[in-house]
Amino acid sequence: MAQVDPRADVALMAGYHSPQLDVDVRLNTNEAPGPPPAAFTERLAARLAEVDWHRYPDRSYRALRTALAAQHGVDPAQVFVANGSNEVLQTLCLTYGGAGRRVATFEPTYALHSHIARITGTEVVEGERNDDFTLDLDTVAKVLADADPVITFLCSPNNPTGMVEPEDTIRQVLAMAPGLVVVDEAYGQFAPWSALELVDDDTPLVVTRTYSKTWAMAAARLGYLVGPRCLVDELDKVVLPYHLDAMKQIAGTVALELHDEMEARVAAIVEERGRLVAALTDLPVDVFPSGANFVLFRPRARAGADVWQGLVDRSVLVRNCASWPRLDDCLRVTIGTRGEDDRFLDALKEVLA
Ligand code: PMP
Repeated sequence: MAQVDPRADVALMAGYHSPQLDVDVRLNTNEAPGPPPAAFTERLAARLAEVDWHRYPDRSYRALRTALAAQHGVDPAQVFVANGSNEVLQTLCLTYGGAGRRVATFEPTYALHSHIARITGTEVVEGERNDDFTLDLDTVAKVLADADPVITFLCSPNNPTGMVEPEDTIRQVLAMAPGLVVVDEAYGQFAPWSALELVDDDTPLVVTRTYSKTWAMAAARLGYLVGPRCLVDELDKVVLPYHLDAMKQIAGTVALELHDEMEARVAAIVEERGRLVAALTDLPVDVFPSGANFVLFRPRARAGADVWQGLVDRSVLVRNCASWPRLDDCLRVTIGTRGEDDRFLDALKEVLA
């Protein structure tokens, strides 16, 4: 085949990688430690048997939209759902970004915000966080005034730091942002407060959520946003027709029927996070405060990459952030089952000894 060049900016990009290794204990991708309740798989199987497989699915996924809206106390017209919250973010960038437009991020944060923006031809302006990973509002004001971004991305709890943006910070960023503020709450249910309470039709704010973490449904690829109706109308124009298949619509709806069980699991993970953080605090590592289902830490006297390798040698995989910009020597561990977390803690004690 004759050589066909991709877009010049795409040719220069590095892809997004999250390496997997064959280990006993996998605590590197912030998934839930166990599958959804048995009732989920049973109900899903029964409902899938009723699908009209020769027909396209409901293009506007009314049942799922209505169930999500009821859950958040908003109108169904304020809800947009896609194949993972990454696709929600991509649809936002396709709709509001593009050539000649800019988005702002505050680093370190979720790498896909800038990656997806660039893929959609949108310029990215990267502001910096303080050394302790909090946001400095004077810096934010300067970045927003200089860049005039159409989207300002925040992430709360922030990945990979785990830190929750205080409500006052979100309100102040909203007051200064010239365009949309997107608060990525992929880990929102693990945190003490949510920006969802600030969403209404008159505020240029959207909050994105995912089924991948809290709902133990990473395999389903399902995420959504809550935002003003006029924004959702625009996204509906941009997304591909029938982008949400029938299985996904049903899976998302069935999961919401099991809300109480899912919430109990979130509470258990938050409790286990407390236990893990307390144990880490006794070790020679700096621990960053987490409102998520993972914890970022930095060994004090050892190179992060060596500690990561020592854990892998003991069949425990955590996320190696040691060479990421601004995250020197940091590692990120997902909250697992009690048994997995004990394996991790024992391995870490040995490596640090
Ligand atoms: N946002 C953040 C902050 C994340 O960490 C992730 C998952 N790594 C996502 C969005 C994407 O989640 P998904 O596409 O699985 O919904």
